[in-house]
Amino acid sequence: MTQENLIIIGSGPAGLTAALYAARANLNPLLITGNELGGQIAITNEVENYPGFDSILGPELTEKMKEQAEKFGARFEYSSVTEVDLAKGSPFFLKTYNGEYQAKAMIVAAGASAKRLGIPGEEEFIGRGVSYCATCDGFFFKGKDVLVVGGGDSALQEGLFLTKYATQVRIVHRRNSLRAGEFLKARATENEKINFVWNTVLEEIRGNGAVQEVVAKNLTTGQMERLKTDGVFVFVGHFPNTQIFEGQLAMDENKFLVQDPIYKQAVSSAGQGCQAAISAERWLAAKGVE
Ligand code: NAP
Repeated sequence: MTQENLIIIGSGPAGLTAALYAARANLNPLLITGNELGGQIAITNEVENYPGFDSILGPELTEKMKEQAEKFGARFEYSSVTEVDLAKGSPFFLKTYNGEYQAKAMIVAAGASAKRLGIPGEEEFIGRGVSYCATCDGFFFKGKDVLVVGGGDSALQEGLFLTKYATQVRIVHRRNSLRAGEFLKARATENEKINFVWNTVLEEIRGNGAVQEVVAKNLTTGQMERLKTDGVFVFVGHFPNTQIFEGQLAMDENKFLVQDPIYKQAVSSAGQGCQAAISAERWLAAKGVE
């Protein structure tokens, strides 16, 4: 079993910032990346609201944060945590696909994963027309028609990105007003390739080897309609990656750790990563760990 001072779980802006601060505090932190280095921001295309960058690609921002943390000595393990045992307190037990650890301190920055619609056809057509990442899959929809489900910032931002490839992007939203912020709202409304399908939910995704159509229900009239399309991009929010902590850490009713169920921005996450690292440093110092 490997002994560590500080293990950081998660490699989004929070985890990477925690790694930077902890490395600079000579804690020699080990960061376990999770499935994807960078988390949500790494599968975002353009980031235009991270201070200091006019516009930067999500993966590029992630890479810069990682390099900066590494420069000061942070170490990275490309793996996921499968088990934690916090019952005995510090040192905390942790298991990854690569090994077992005891960590004097631990920072949880495991982020969230894309929610699914849970409708027939969704699972079946993942990778064959159903996607949760426009940056990853947009290219495959060159000259095609796509639907985007959701009415938040992600739906609009990713929908705008898809207009680079698709001939038409229809944003299907369950209400008739958007949750997204004013800036993205204005940009999406002005974009000629974007059309909105209001008060509508998808009931089924159909195809033959690849997506060909969806069955949509208008929630105002109750009417069902078949919409021909080549792709369905789903951006209906996220669920927190907190399963391994159930029964061990305090969570709200949506299973978020109590830290930030509200703001969920790259920059606020980075700020929280900084706070966590400073707190860990002080806590370890109080325990006599230099
Ligand atoms: P979100 O804000 O939670 O929006 C999810 C959207 O999906 C909502 O419009 C919601 O409808 C809809 N929805 C939820 N469940 C649904 C279902 N089962 N069927 C159909 N529609 C469903 O999630 P998000 O857009 O991923 O954003 C998450 C956070 O990241 C937010 O705080 C956002 O501000 C932030 N973010 C910011 C930026 C940026 O600043 N550029 C970009 C991306 C994300 P209702 O509106 O009816 O609830």
